[in-house]
Amino acid sequence: MAAALAAASCGDRVTVLERLDRVGKKLLSTGNGRCNLMNTDGLRYPGGSKLARAVLERCGAEQQTVFWRALGLELRQEGEGRVYPLSGQASTVLDVLRYQLQRLRVRTVTEAQVKALVPSGAEWIVRSAAGEERFDRVIVTGGGRAQPKLGSDGSAYELLTALGHHLIQPRPALTQLETEPEPIRGLSGIRLRAGVRLLRNGRELCRERGEVLFTEYGLSGICVMQCSRWAEPGCEAVLNLLEPIGLENAEDALRELQRRQHVWRGGEAEQLLCGLVVSRLGQRVFRLAGVPSHERRVEDLSGQDLQALAETLTAYRIRVTGIRGFESAQVTAGGIAADEFVPETMASRIAKGLHAAGEVLDVDGDCGGFNLMFAFGSGILAGLNGRESNWMR
Ligand SMILES: Cc1cc2nc3c(=O)[nH]c(=O)nc-3n(C[C@H](O)[C@H](O)[C@H](O)COP(=O)(O)OP(=O)(O)OC[C@H]3O[C@@H](n4cnc5c(N)ncnc54)[C@H](O)[C@@H]3O)c2cc1C
Repeated sequence: MAAALAAASCGDRVTVLERLDRVGKKLLSTGNGRCNLMNTDGLRYPGGSKLARAVLERCGAEQQTVFWRALGLELRQEGEGRVYPLSGQASTVLDVLRYQLQRLRVRTVTEAQVKALVPSGAEWIVRSAAGEERFDRVIVTGGGRAQPKLGSDGSAYELLTALGHHLIQPRPALTQLETEPEPIRGLSGIRLRAGVRLLRNGRELCRERGEVLFTEYGLSGICVMQCSRWAEPGCEAVLNLLEPIGLENAEDALRELQRRQHVWRGGEAEQLLCGLVVSRLGQRVFRLAGVPSHERRVEDLSGQDLQALAETLTAYRIRVTGIRGFESAQVTAGGIAADEFVPETMASRIAKGLHAAGEVLDVDGDCGGFNLMFAFGSGILAGLNGRESNWMR
């Protein structure tokens, strides 16, 4: 839609072909229905950062703010650089896009799955479920594979690979982790802030800190989802439950437990962790640390017990058994090779008159508005195709 608007704003006659019965369905689900449109902090693209950077230097948060304001959308900045529509509703974003499509007379054809792009002289023949048409220029913005029920079924990859582009194996990213049951038993619904590391045979795959949510099947929450693109079955998620209060390791935690043992003398053993972690999790920590708590008092805990508890609190180990698939993922890692497109215009280096933008490319960002920011930024550049629009003052 952004690509179509940018092209139409330069005077092009534009048609949007959409396979679903309406455009922009996925937008409505973004940011828990609030649509985290972009991010004004440093760029965070674990995949395709070179292209993302080149695109966002040209059409990043500043230029996109001009774009949204031109469409009448006011924005609101929240913590960690996240930008949302002022209304707090994703539907407002879709509304302003749709109104502008109408205003600039962009033709929108729904239930028109594109099946093939065929070069024909200086033109393109586009074969879709709605028939066959000729265009001067084609912009592929069919997304990746994440949440196919919202439209992105991976079919856009085939359109581009058929023309000689290369596909980097798509993988689910920003998704939940399935884990062994024991360390998460009884913890479903607990949400906390923690440090998270993923380890494989002792080697650190990634490290994040932020919100973690225990679920019936494993782990969710923003920082776990950010780890998911590095996760593989058999690796280990290691949570530091005390990182948010600055206790970085077992030594720090041990000092805190010794202090608490002194203060809470006379209380039941589990009271030692009360106020540090919720009680259900505290009980699990005792269990996983191998420290019996039944009919014991705080002062009965030995130095060895405190050490084991400190180690478990700062390295709560959970074996990962699987990564939730594309049905749950918010984004696709991998996609069409990013270096096959010119960042200024998102034009293909392989086929003339062909462009691509958004998640169909091998670019994936962290949570926080980075994926929509790349999709809109690259879409606008593709639509403009090197021209000026009065949005881009
Ligand atoms: C639940 C959820 C929440 C998210 N929240 C955020 C967020 O808050 N902030 C953020 O930055 N990112 C978020 N994302 C990621 C973000 O939505 C995507 O990265 C972004 O929408 C990608 O835009 P796109 O236009 O490239 O692809 P998509 O939004 O996937 O759009 C592709 C469109 O192309 C259509 N299409 C596909 N193939 C064809 C074909 N062959 N012919 C015709 N039409 C076709 C699809 O039906 C779809 O309408 C979220 C994703 C999900 C699933």
